[in-house]
Amino acid sequence: MSVVLVVEDEPAIAELIALTLHHAGHEVQRAEDAVQAQAAIDRALPDLVLLDWMLPGESGLQLARRWRADARTRGLSIIMLTARAQEADKVAGLDAGADDYLAKPFSPKELLARMRAVLRRKAPQAADEALQVGPLRLEPATHRVFCVREGEAEAAIELRLGPTEFRLLRFFMAHAQRVHTRAQLLDRVWGDHVFIEERTVDVHIKRLREALAAADCAALVETVRGVGYRLVDGSAGG
Ligand code: CA
Repeated sequence: MSVVLVVEDEPAIAELIALTLHHAGHEVQRAEDAVQAQAAIDRALPDLVLLDWMLPGESGLQLARRWRADARTRGLSIIMLTARAQEADKVAGLDAGADDYLAKPFSPKELLARMRAVLRRKAPQAADEALQVGPLRLEPATHRVFCVREGEAEAAIELRLGPTEFRLLRFFMAHAQRVHTRAQLLDRVWGDHVFIEERTVDVHIKRLREALAAADCAALVETVRGVGYRLVDGSAGG
């Protein structure tokens, strides 16, 4: 599950991309121009942006340059979409900070393959690879979580997590050290189609900590007062 912002002013193409991404299990946000795209980025950072080059008003190229120049958005994964297939344009797109470049028309299969490659480079969880943060090891393929204390490799403790706690921990591990608000967690872990109260997050955080406590790891999930939660690696005494 990745959150993908699709910035595309042509409704038919935007719709086709959205369908493709939904079908592949991604959450799609849509913007028709640079103003809407910036507003979406200001709300929350997506995992990936599919950015059309030719937009009314500010171009996708200018937008990519601006995002790369800003500390908060510098790490965004961006794939430029464009009808321009010339080599010079491709270079300009990559120079502006795009991670990859896709010339229209492209097949859904090609789009998803390029997305996988970009996401894999930046977020290993997209490829079902095991995640490791501090003593915690999460294996998406087998749905198992272990706690391995340093020097105790033989004594890995398997943790028992409910499905929501598993998804919550997986999200935390893929974005370790970052603070997430309850609203962001609801959005990213529960998905935005379900109406759930924010205090539900607290209930599952509590359950997650109880599960982690079995391996003395509960303190890895930190409460950031007035903001939300984050996962730390325990190296700073957390
Ligand atoms: Ca366009």
